[in-house]
Amino acid sequence: MNSFISALGNLLKKPVTVKYPFEQTYKPDDYRGLIGFEESLCIWCRRCEAACPPGAIVFSQDMEGKQTYHYNRAVCIYCHECVRSCPKEGAIFQTAEPAPCALKAENINNGWNKLFDEAIESRELYAAEKKRKTAEKAAADKAAAAAKKAAEDKAGETPQ
Ligand code: SF4
Ligand code: SF4
Repeated sequence: MNSFISALGNLLKKPVTVKYPFEQTYKPDDYRGLIGFEESLCIWCRRCEAACPPGAIVFSQDMEGKQTYHYNRAVCIYCHECVRSCPKEGAIFQTAEPAPCALKAENINNGWNKLFDEAIESRELYAAEKKRKTAEKAAADKAAAAAKKAAEDKAGETPQ
């Protein structure tokens, strides 16, 4: 009998569930939402990328050395580690904005894996090119120094 009364009581109560996403659920003050990035404050140290457990951040680099930040909200686990590891306050930050659903059309997982690999490769290419240019410059400087020394030695020779 008690259960019957309890069941009847529940029928008259407001549902405890909400019609998400049409109705928003409770959000605490320290809710961890999407990660934001402020390019003007970034010093491009990539500590956020290194600290990110699932690999939701990656930086690509062009042949002039300019880096570009990439973030995948569907890979992010909202752990705050990137923000904690950043030496420049405000360069990367946690917003209170919930992540929108990932759409199939975005090809978010396979597309991200490809972008991630290409970003790492772009940095390797830049590093290799920088190394090549440094070696080339060192060789040119060495040749110029040898030529200068030869010229000085010749100028210093006493006539017979
Ligand atoms: S919140 Fe965590 S998972 Fe998300 S980007 Fe930052 S470090 Fe990576
Ligand atoms: S850790 Fe901060 S400063 Fe360094 S690359 Fe990431 S956002 Fe930029």
